[in-house]
Amino acid sequence: MRALVLEKVSTFSINQNPLRLTYLNTPIPERDEILIEISVCGVCHTELDEIEGRLKVAHLPIVLGHQIIGRVIQKGKDVKKFHIGERVGIGWIYSSCGKCIFCRNEKENLCREFKATGKDFNGGYAEYVKIKESFAFAIPEKFSDVQAAPLFCAGAIGYRSLRLCNHLNGQNLGLVGFGSSAHLVIQLSKFLYPQSKIFVFARSAKEREFAKELGAYWTGDIEDEPPQKLYSVIDTTPAWKPVVYALKNLQEGGRVVINAIRKEDFDKEELLKIDYPSHIWLEKEIKSVANVTRQDIKEFLRIAEVLDLRVEVQEYQLEEANKALQELKDRKIRGAKVLVIK
Ligand SMILES: [Zn+2]
Ligand SMILES: [Zn+2]
Repeated sequence: MRALVLEKVSTFSINQNPLRLTYLNTPIPERDEILIEISVCGVCHTELDEIEGRLKVAHLPIVLGHQIIGRVIQKGKDVKKFHIGERVGIGWIYSSCGKCIFCRNEKENLCREFKATGKDFNGGYAEYVKIKESFAFAIPEKFSDVQAAPLFCAGAIGYRSLRLCNHLNGQNLGLVGFGSSAHLVIQLSKFLYPQSKIFVFARSAKEREFAKELGAYWTGDIEDEPPQKLYSVIDTTPAWKPVVYALKNLQEGGRVVINAIRKEDFDKEELLKIDYPSHIWLEKEIKSVANVTRQDIKEFLRIAEVLDLRVEVQEYQLEEANKALQELKDRKIRGAKVLVIK
């Protein structure tokens, strides 16, 4: 099969084209697995973390990509849920042990055996992928393949972030960074918390404009002070500083949720700038989002269908993945980026 592989970890540079097109053996499904012919795969910031070594992949070479849509073309003999030809999607969760205390208590995202698609096992920047049937999902009819791909990470982890905010309808919500995930979360928030005002912080004027289009009450740059305090903030930026600003903008009892696996510039000096009275006092909290559960993906897909989510997508050919990632790095973003494979 055609596949784009990461062979070595280094600073991403489009000139070096870190992902290389090659041919790999098509995987053969085990008894509880399905083989999927991939039609599209979403591009996520996590791929940059993997390429540049902030997030360690399990083996090299590896096929990245964890927002996969395709059709079942082969299945193991114990597979019951899906039939040949059915459209399915895969997200970041590739497998979990199913037995530990986390798995048994709706926190499989924290399982020590958690395996991630395109990190521990080959992912979607290729023509085929295999996975256990219990970690694949049916997709609501109303979304095309290209629209459905970003739902599997940008959407589902965005949904998890919002859930972890413990947000209250009517309270102000802040979104720091306005990429693939935030453009879905803003719509989700308006649906779940119709009385809340949404404040969007983004570096680029284009992103701020787009946020307004999608119903932001206020937009500003990362360092700007919003006209009102915020109860919940979701940070999706690759930097650390925005988190410090976000803490300062919180009201009493507020929470900042960081939806990022790694921060590019995390340094302890910045941490020391956190000032207890203005950043933490009055029961303010800071929380990270790690991975995603199957329940998050299922619930999010259901809500996405009901709320008629608008998914803004930029399409690229598989061979253009390096270009798409460079644009992501340069923050040339409007909505989500998706590779069209078939
Ligand atoms: Zn992702
Ligand atoms: Zn487990």
